[in-house]
This record gives sequence, structure tokens and C-alpha cells, in this order.
Amino acid sequence: MEEVIEAIVAANLAAVRARIEAGTRTAGRAAGSVALVAVSKTHPGAAVREALAAGHRLFGENRVQEAQAKYPLLCETYPDLELHLIGPLQTNKVRDAVALFDVIETVDRPRLATALAREMELTGRRPSCLIEVNTGEEPQKSGVMPDAADAFIGECRDRLGLPISGLMCVPPLDEDPAPHFALLRAIARRTGLAQLSMGMSADFETAIRFGATHVRIGTAIFGARGRPAR
Ligand SMILES: *Cc1c(COP(=O)(O)O)cnc(C)c1O
Repeated sequence: MEEVIEAIVAANLAAVRARIEAGTRTAGRAAGSVALVAVSKTHPGAAVREALAAGHRLFGENRVQEAQAKYPLLCETYPDLELHLIGPLQTNKVRDAVALFDVIETVDRPRLATALAREMELTGRRPSCLIEVNTGEEPQKSGVMPDAADAFIGECRDRLGLPISGLMCVPPLDEDPAPHFALLRAIARRTGLAQLSMGMSADFETAIRFGATHVRIGTAIFGARGRPAR
């Protein structure tokens, strides 16, 4: 059974990598310019180990506690494992997040930015950060509003000295994602940020056309959540 799952995760990874390469080529972009963040949320550590055995090293989780349960041991075994936080971060989890994650993709409000800056100062550990932008201006969703993004980026970078490397977004479920990817790219260009984390299983090829440097893919690698990989 385990071997079957291993083969499926490895085959899914290879297929997704091939689609990323093809999409990168079609977009006229440099080979290797799009990193694959394998999103392992809700999937067991065994599934992550299968991906690691297949040579993958870059992973994303959306909850601090779930990542704490799954990753510290794997990080010891694989020192080159890189872990991204892609879900909302509460200020009372900042200490744990800074200790565990290599990249925090969801910086979206001044209180959180201040807490992150303080924790980094205290510990000397400086995971690079992305600003999450609520490109669809959805009230229930996290992320800074587009018209407040430039000022917030400036505050994080210049006043707080956070290591901001780019932007992240999750477009509204029921809309064409292209205008959202274009908006994120426009904000990154005018603020001089290089990294764009955008695109998931259903829309990553579009995101690559709009300049994604990181695509975050769960279902296409590990299978539907709540069910085993298939
Ligand atoms: C779950 C999740 C993903 C991966 O979504 P899939 O559709 O399974 O590829 C990407 N980004 C974020 C922020 C997520 O929460």
C-alpha cells in the first residue's frame, strides 16, 4: 500500500513538474524560474516523506500547529527542506512560526508585521516574508487591500526592516484568476518586489503566464484532501 502511494505521489510530482516546465516555456520565461511549493496540508507526514523520497524539498502548510506536528522531524532528516507558511498567521503564533518556517507568505496587517519584526530582532532568525494581497477585496478573506498595499509594503520594508521578498494572493474561487494575477504583478513591479506566489492546482499555468515565481500546489500532487492520493 505504501509503495503504491509513493508511486502515485512521485508520478503526480513528475506530471506537475512537466506542466510547470511546459508552461514556463510557453510563457517565454527562463527554465527553472518557477518554484513548486508542494502543499501538504491535511495530508499525513507519510505523504510528505514520499515527496521527499522523490527528491522534492519545498513544501507549504497553512496552519502553524499542523506544521509543528508534521515537520520538525522531517527537517532534521532533510536539512535542505524548505517550509512555507501559506495560511493566516495569528500574532500569538508568531514565535512558533518564526522558529519553524523558512518563508512566511501571509503578512497582511500592521500588528502582525510588528510582532514579526520584534520576534526576528529577539531571535536573529529572519524567515523571508511575502505580503498577502486580497486582490478580490473579499471581506472574509485575509490579505491587505490592493489600494493599501503600497503603503503597507513600505511600512514593512522600510520602517520595520522586515525581509520582504514578494507578494502572494489567492483569487476569488468563482472568478477568472487572470486579472488578479495581473494586479499582483503590477503591485510587485511598482514596489520593486521580485517574488510572486500565485497559482494553485486549478490555475497555475495561468499564473505562470502572469509571472508567478512560486506556484502552490496541493491536490494535483497529494490527491483530494480528506481522501488518499490518487
Ligand atoms: C490549499 C492551498 C493551496 C493548494 O491548493 P490546491 O488547489 O490543492 O492546489 C494553495 N494556496 C493556499 C493558500 C492554500 O491554502
